[in-house]
Amino acid sequence: MNNQLLLDHLRCIPDWPIKGVNFRDVTTLFKSPEALNEITNEMFKLYKDKEITKIVGIESRGFVMSSAVAVKLGAGIVLCRKPGKLPCETVQESYAKEYGIDTIEIHKDAISEKDTILLHDDLLATGGTMKAACNLVKKFHPKKIYCNFIIELSSEFPNSRKLFDKDVEITSLL
Ligand code: IMP
Repeated sequence: MNNQLLLDHLRCIPDWPIKGVNFRDVTTLFKSPEALNEITNEMFKLYKDKEITKIVGIESRGFVMSSAVAVKLGAGIVLCRKPGKLPCETVQESYAKEYGIDTIEIHKDAISEKDTILLHDDLLATGGTMKAACNLVKKFHPKKIYCNFIIELSSEFPNSRKLFDKDVEITSLL
């Protein structure tokens, strides 16, 4: 993989959204055709033999690569959204954030026991968001769950992977 290409296109914004946070801005990756192509191809290589039937993209930056890679894998896409955005009946999961509780949801008829799921988000920090998404998807009893991120902040958050059950396979590109 061409790590340097991706790193060259990744923008870091110091002290955003609050002081002390060094925000990795993936919109600069997404606007580069070369970086977009590289991420798509790398994710395809990682999952082409895994018989993925659906990619669950996490709102909102997780939606972008989910759709590109789903087309290449011949998989469908499921939207994992914040409450009140999905029009039909949903299944929900709540999780603790630094300040308060967050909830995410998926349409009740979006996943079946026959599915093999790839969960995708742009970035893994504490792991709270993806862990909640895993818990949510597990309620549908799919055959297998994989998780993927473009970026994993493993130096800043070295314990995030420990949150996940052993049967959940995790990869990240950077
Ligand atoms: P976590 O739940 O602490 O792992 O945070 C990951 C979630 O917050 C993901 O949905 C990310 O989109 C978002 N996030 C946290 N930090 C960043 C960042 O530096 N860049 C982009 N997204 C971030």
